[in-house]
Amino acid sequence: MSPLVGGRLNQPLPSQDTEQKSGLQIEPALRFVFNNPYIDVVLSGMSTTDMLLQNVAIASNEQDMTKQEEKYINQVTQEFAYLKEIYCTGCNYCLPCPNQVNISHLMLMLQFYEVYGLKEVAKNRYRLLARTDKKDASACTQCGLCEERCPQTLSICKQLKKIHRIFTE
Ligand code: SF4
Ligand code: SF4
Repeated sequence: MSPLVGGRLNQPLPSQDTEQKSGLQIEPALRFVFNNPYIDVVLSGMSTTDMLLQNVAIASNEQDMTKQEEKYINQVTQEFAYLKEIYCTGCNYCLPCPNQVNISHLMLMLQFYEVYGLKEVAKNRYRLLARTDKKDASACTQCGLCEERCPQTLSICKQLKKIHRIFTE
């Protein structure tokens, strides 16, 4: 599930020029999953016919991964390893929260803060959330329901505690 991490692998890697053409990562990312003998079904979200046709073409190619593709997968793994604890795809499968915590929105702010370095933007958004009477991370009672539903197995409770701490200090 989510072989392209909510479409994010269709973006340039952190070490790549942001102007670099996107879309280069789709084929190796999908083929990495297709080539795993322990995986029977790949669930990749698609919103256009072009995406569907592209995925069908990749799935129809039964060749092994090339050395270049393997090298690329290793590069992706290394560059994104530090993100695995906060890599929320925004799927919202963790909802509903009994305390109406908007988990994916809060996780996105954490990504703004930690991944993109937009610290003040993230803090301001968090303060705005509290002011407009929406639930911020402090509404979380740590019940753990969301963690049971998260396909990325994120430690949501731990991250929400951290979010409230860093955005209010
Ligand atoms: S752990 Fe917190 S965010 Fe998750 S469902 Fe429970 S109250 Fe909501
Ligand atoms: S926390 Fe998990 S389930 Fe919730 S939106 Fe993010 S990836 Fe999806």
